[in-house]
Amino acid sequence: MNKALIENWGNPSSLHTLGMHAEIAVDNARQCVASSISASQKEIIFTSCGTEANNTAIMSALHRKNRGNRIITTSIEHPSVLNAVKALEDFGFQVIYLKPKANGVIDLVDLENALNDKTVLVSIMLVNNETGAIQPVKEACELTHKLSKNAFFHCDAVQAYGKMPINVKSLGVDLLTASGHKIHAPKGIGFLYCSQKTHISPLLFGGGQENGMRSGTESVPLICALQGAIESLPNLKNQLNIQKDLYDYTVKLLENTGFATINSNQNVLPYVLNISLNGYRSETVLHFLESKNIFISSGSACSKGNVSYVLKEMGKDNRAIDSAIRISFSRFNTKSDVDTLVNELINATKKLRKA
Ligand code: PLP
Repeated sequence: MNKALIENWGNPSSLHTLGMHAEIAVDNARQCVASSISASQKEIIFTSCGTEANNTAIMSALHRKNRGNRIITTSIEHPSVLNAVKALEDFGFQVIYLKPKANGVIDLVDLENALNDKTVLVSIMLVNNETGAIQPVKEACELTHKLSKNAFFHCDAVQAYGKMPINVKSLGVDLLTASGHKIHAPKGIGFLYCSQKTHISPLLFGGGQENGMRSGTESVPLICALQGAIESLPNLKNQLNIQKDLYDYTVKLLENTGFATINSNQNVLPYVLNISLNGYRSETVLHFLESKNIFISSGSACSKGNVSYVLKEMGKDNRAIDSAIRISFSRFNTKSDVDTLVNELINATKKLRKA
């Protein structure tokens, strides 16, 4: 990023050498992003964030309304998907929201029943941001393409990208969203994978950057920073094993406390752990931990204190929802961090019980 700020501050659209250097930097980054998901360079559109990539994918349904007006998604998507499809309802789209089972995973039979020849878009996330539940995207994609010939399959992979191997070709998705800040790039950069056979319309019109798909001068430093973050990723399979070990260790310690119930299910990406602290309001616990320099959230950070609709959709009762906290791991967390967290949780419950 620093290198780009100092050396490649030209505008990639400019014809002079400075512009050309910036363009080369963006091309290199695009190649890096593309190969991280087994795509080709032409299939990557840089965006300002995951939200913009999700909106670009979803709003493109507007231009395909002559083929059908049905959109299928899940009731546990991120608000950047849920609010986008909700906006499309005002344009006459019928949106079907698939509910998860008690384990937080959608049922493919429900998808099969919802798909018809009027379906133009299916949007299902790869990993849920509040519970870590992995959704059966590959199978959902196969069903969609088999039963709804007019439908594009979009996948919000913001929580999965850089944490588990993703191969867009073997997943079979037409569109896929990722965001840089989930893998230690700065905030303000994301991308949308759009397969070469998928023709969508842009959200932003203007000078025609990003192959006409996202006008606006490219943020070269942030794009280069994303490349840096990707190049710094460890081997994802090995890292996943290490993380699974840390996750299981955390679950075991929490179960031993006697006051924590695990809301995340077995089939999770072990970077998100959702628990309920029976009898303790999540907000109070959150502030106690914050005073110890431990930063966890209640529900999702984007919903700022709103009760978790994801846990509600999973059928959790109000007691479990009011006391739910979400622990997000990074690859830099250690067992010692977990020991500190669990000890401070025990301290929190002792102190709050007294109060
Ligand atoms: N999708 C999911 C699953 C997320 O968790 C997030 C952010 O946390 C987003 C989309 C939005 O990404 P961004 O913050 O880059 O807009």
